[in-house]
Amino acid sequence: MSIFKKETEALSYTVKDKEIKCGHCGNNIFHRSYSRIEPVNVFTFAPNPADCYICASCGHVEWFVPDEEKE
Ligand SMILES: [Zn+2]
Repeated sequence: MSIFKKETEALSYTVKDKEIKCGHCGNNIFHRSYSRIEPVNVFTFAPNPADCYICASCGHVEWFVPDEEKE
């Protein structure tokens, strides 16, 4: 099972009124996903939980921590 499940069709999204652009290829079309990575997972390198946007072009993942999860 992938931790990066594509839960939406490919769309453009904004965070804090700024359009998300892929940090790798510059594309602005993403699949959205919501990740809750278990703390014991060896791949725990990202905030838990996090909003994930998967670039529809190259597959690069952009991560955003929801406001209520920030310290
Ligand atoms: Zn990309």
